[in-house]
Amino acid sequence: MNTFDNYINGEWVASAHTSKNINPSDITDVVGEYAQADAEQVNNAVAAAKAAQPAWGASTPQQRFDVLDFIGSEILARKDELGRLLSREEGKTLPEGIGEVVRAGNIFKFFAAEALRVGGEHIPSVRPGIEIDTMRESLGVVGLITPWNFPMAIPSWKVAPALAFGNAVLLKPAELAPACSWNLAEIISRSGLPKGVFNLVMGKGSAVGNTIVNHPDVAGVSFTGSVEVGRTLAANLAKRLARVQLEMGGKNPLVVLDDADLNVAVNAAINGAFFSTGQRCTASSRLVVTEGIHDRFVQAMVERMKALKVDDALAPGTDIGPVIDGAQFMKDESYIELARREGGKLAFGGERLKREKNGWYLAPALFTETTNTMRFNCEEAFGPLAGVIRVKNYDEALAVANDTEFGLCAGICTTSLKHATHFKRNAQAGMVMVNLPTAGVDYHVPFGGRKGSSYGTREQGSYAKEFYTVVKTCYVAAG
Ligand code: ADP
Repeated sequence: MNTFDNYINGEWVASAHTSKNINPSDITDVVGEYAQADAEQVNNAVAAAKAAQPAWGASTPQQRFDVLDFIGSEILARKDELGRLLSREEGKTLPEGIGEVVRAGNIFKFFAAEALRVGGEHIPSVRPGIEIDTMRESLGVVGLITPWNFPMAIPSWKVAPALAFGNAVLLKPAELAPACSWNLAEIISRSGLPKGVFNLVMGKGSAVGNTIVNHPDVAGVSFTGSVEVGRTLAANLAKRLARVQLEMGGKNPLVVLDDADLNVAVNAAINGAFFSTGQRCTASSRLVVTEGIHDRFVQAMVERMKALKVDDALAPGTDIGPVIDGAQFMKDESYIELARREGGKLAFGGERLKREKNGWYLAPALFTETTNTMRFNCEEAFGPLAGVIRVKNYDEALAVANDTEFGLCAGICTTSLKHATHFKRNAQAGMVMVNLPTAGVDYHVPFGGRKGSSYGTREQGSYAKEFYTVVKTCYVAAG
């Protein structure tokens, strides 16, 4: 069995304990054993980062560009191999896995160029003889805590801007899918980045994650994960006035109006609700459908769902891979049971599927006759599950779409410019999609939500610098 170590202060460091990374498509297949950092190793990583950060923060934009460009180029060159590894450890299909790796490579390329664009402003003072400049400096040592569902893209969209803006990094990937982060670390180890600037510390959130969050030398934490953990983490970081950025859950609505192109709507709903096994915080788990198209929409959805191939993530032709593990599978099953108890009607799916390999295969489930107040439609399940909510008209659809404690993404399928425009302006979400699935976003624009979905500044695009830099305003008496 291959063992994969942590990367601390430019060295590969073994740990007393390891954790098995298991392929959810075939639970007899162990991807590898991944070292679990102990508290001393995490503290060593913070110390190394703290020592290395000032020099990296003072490096030239060209040095940062070169490092990030190297990382991006290698990720892109190895997209097939890394995409395969991603699908094997996480369970999304191979095309999805390769697509995510390409996205990660592009993110590094984007932030390589962003490193060249860090500028400031020259602002005339309101007082005579004084000049004002603003400049951006690095935040310092940052902790990056990531989930298992995008094991390559999410670490990349945190690590790339962190390095581009001169910070030193501790990356703590999710226990269930550390292989992509390990490979990212391996590439970074050959990128010319000075030792100590980037550190990989794998292990449990309650141990490694918690040590990072509470370490006085960590200036900020960017976290993607569950609402419960995110809220606790933010409270702890606020106590010591450290910077925090949270991306958490969603209960994203996809509105389908009577005037929608049925094919467009069904494509958007199938993709948004069920692709990547529904394990996306941007998944369309609430399908809010007006009554004139409701029955046709449900019928077309069921027809399409019958044709979806749920199987080994790496097998050609698979549309939907397995659920990540047994615990998540049981959680999905409990939400299916809950929907039934709350009066939802199972239109299709919801059962465990037997396949050639022993994996966590679940038939995507569609419930009809659901209401927006059912717990099934309020809580994020993070599985291939969706509820159809029947509404009278656009006004009710918008009200239902917004009636949630989350606010990550909201979608609408309509051929009406008037309704599309109104929805864009009035959906209470960080991202709005018109005639598109709620999931599936570009790599060069801001990503994030409102209400219970996100906290702090936006990730990605040129907005990422708001988290990873601090602004300094300098006044000079000219004469
Ligand atoms: P999910 O299981 O959906 O990925 P979690 O919020 O449980 O969501 O995990 C997201 C990330 O947060 C993981 O890397 C996990 O190890 C980490 N984590 C979990 N609990 C804590 C904690 N108490 N402190 C810091 N990090 C944590």
